[in-house]
Amino acid sequence: MDSDAIASDLSEILLTEDQIRERIAELCREIESDYEGRELLLVGVLKGAVMVMADLARELRKADVQMDWMAVSSYGTGTQSSGVVRILKDLDTDLTDKDVLIVEDIVDSGLTLSWLRENLESRGPASVEICALLRKPDAAKVEIDARYVGFEIPNSFVVGYGLDYAERYRNLRSVAVLSPHVYA
Ligand code: IMP
Repeated sequence: MDSDAIASDLSEILLTEDQIRERIAELCREIESDYEGRELLLVGVLKGAVMVMADLARELRKADVQMDWMAVSSYGTGTQSSGVVRILKDLDTDLTDKDVLIVEDIVDSGLTLSWLRENLESRGPASVEICALLRKPDAAKVEIDARYVGFEIPNSFVVGYGLDYAERYRNLRSVAVLSPHVYA
């Protein structure tokens, strides 16, 4: 969906399609060089990471990767997460000796990713790293060592490119700040 279609719901376009595509390509060159000669398992976190996973996996032109998915729910209210996480859908893949790259849409408080990384590390992988398209530095409640980060963004509620508000706006092609009148 183009931003014009819902212009009155958005207060600002933060990242255009072109900016996202170019940054993902840069991250992929780094990932290809860091994991050269190794087999990489991309773990996408449903549903927000669907777009970044699809674009990242295809842009990894030199790496023969596997993909798997997890769905987790972070208990919280409205636009705040609590850090209490429940697995709704687990991986199908055994992680023993695998190089795992968690692919996420956004690090906000960091609570979900911190829990997820620990959970995956307990399954005997060779390594676990994190790739997040977006990070809100102001919101970090726990220190997250994400090896690959696309963009640092301000501490506003954003939608698009997989990110939703009440399941809407995931198919917006850009990343935009949601106008407060939508959720106020
Ligand atoms: P965290 O545990 O606070 O780091 O964030 C957990 C999840 O909340 C993310 O994976 C997103 O799905 C969602 N989230 C956090 N910030 C935003 C936002 O600005 N827009 C939409 N979803 C968000």
